[in-house]
Amino acid sequence: MPSKVIFLDRDGTLNVDHGYVNERDMWEWVPGSIDACKQLQDAGFTLAVVTNQSGIAHGMYTEKNMHELHAYMEEELALHGVHLAMVAFCPHSRSKGECDCRKPHIGMAKQIEAKIGPINYAASWMIGDKEADLLFGKNAGTKTALIRSKYWEEGKLTEKPDMVVDSLKEAAEKIVG
Ligand SMILES: [Mg+2]
Ligand SMILES: [Zn+2]
Repeated sequence: MPSKVIFLDRDGTLNVDHGYVNERDMWEWVPGSIDACKQLQDAGFTLAVVTNQSGIAHGMYTEKNMHELHAYMEEELALHGVHLAMVAFCPHSRSKGECDCRKPHIGMAKQIEAKIGPINYAASWMIGDKEADLLFGKNAGTKTALIRSKYWEEGKLTEKPDMVVDSLKEAAEKIVG
């Protein structure tokens, strides 16, 4: 049976967005985000992270730094019984030409599908705090939950999210409940 996936943004969704988070000292879980992951997983969703990491293209940190941080993130989640099917990332910059993986492009969804098999996009959700997350979901054909943030304003969005929430936890409550 095709998987129902929760596509999770990273910075501003799982962890507090301190700007180009690239080491453990900068990693701070958003309160309730681990619980939310557990709740969604228990409801039968497959969890996967889709994260734009242009800091790599900009030479601010290396892919190795990022993988070390993601290993830490996955260890912390594992302590709570949460498993990520994949942590997909786009290491490219917006300015250095187009790639097909930087959100709002859906290359990362295709990477995840290549790993886990068919995805039921219509039963899946994209949860993130930027318009690029919303558009990624729209482009992939998922439902969308947009987290309130400094990055977007209601009324200026080009697409309408299925829900607007204050946190991943709130999104999980609404999706599952
Ligand atoms: Mg974000
Ligand atoms: Zn890319």
